[in-house]
Amino acid sequence: MSVRELVVLGTASQVPTRHRNHNGYLLRWDGEGILFDPGEGTQRQMLRAGVAAHDLNRICVTHFHGDHCLGLAGVIQRVNLDKVPHEITAHYPRSGQRFFDRLRYATAYRETVALTEAPVDTDGPLARTPGYTLEARKLSHPVEAYGYRLVEPDGRRMLPDRLAAHGIKGPDVGRIQREGTLGGVPLEEVSEVRRGQRFAFVMDTRLCDGVYALAEGSDMLVIESTFLDEDEELAVDFGHLTAGQAARVARETGVRHLVLTHFSQRYPEPEEFERQARAAGYEGELTVARDLQRVALPKRR
Ligand SMILES: [Zn+2]
Repeated sequence: MSVRELVVLGTASQVPTRHRNHNGYLLRWDGEGILFDPGEGTQRQMLRAGVAAHDLNRICVTHFHGDHCLGLAGVIQRVNLDKVPHEITAHYPRSGQRFFDRLRYATAYRETVALTEAPVDTDGPLARTPGYTLEARKLSHPVEAYGYRLVEPDGRRMLPDRLAAHGIKGPDVGRIQREGTLGGVPLEEVSEVRRGQRFAFVMDTRLCDGVYALAEGSDMLVIESTFLDEDEELAVDFGHLTAGQAARVARETGVRHLVLTHFSQRYPEPEEFERQARAAGYEGELTVARDLQRVALPKRR
């Protein structure tokens, strides 16, 4: 059984609070673990959330503000201490290479792990695996920032009644799937399109084309909502979103499960983010993220 879920490691923008760690998000996608934006304290949050260094295959950093990357030093040293046997690939804006270098080599340690640097400097696909294509899109923030999304290729779902009607059974089912036709019966006749799932991760940005492109048709969208709607002017000035803006994006792009996060310390009550998201007309699944929460991807359509 393949597991696809988000493990929330931290939800605070800028500074941690008594209840919120700096950012940090692990996406479990079948057997793979993708760590997004490890802020300060991520190593300990992983421990508390039951995420091991061995679970990491890929690290994606949206930009080099401290709340999105200060945890890299600790996480990288930990995967080396634990001698993780597989390769780990790191994506981050190429313009921040000097910051990545410093974090990777912040102090002395014994390097044991194959950590591949795969910096991002343009929109488009970064990696293809059998389970997904990873893509980046530029965002709009005072320092260069990229959002990410995973797009699973469409598959086909076999239809038992159609198979039976054509007398196709046993090993012939696999044969028609592999060969696309069997005894004059095309695969399309006995199956339907199974839409691939999509996960999008959008941090630290004003509204811009990249936000919409990443969110489009997502099964799950994890998106910053640093501010409440009454502080929209601040949000625009500092390159951030409000709860209402994030929810309108989700509504307009057909997001099925919206996860709001990256909250400013100025707001003690998370309920208001939910209220404003609903007031913006978003009707899908909604999570106002809490540290150490697990959020499953919605079931396939
Ligand atoms: Zn930032």
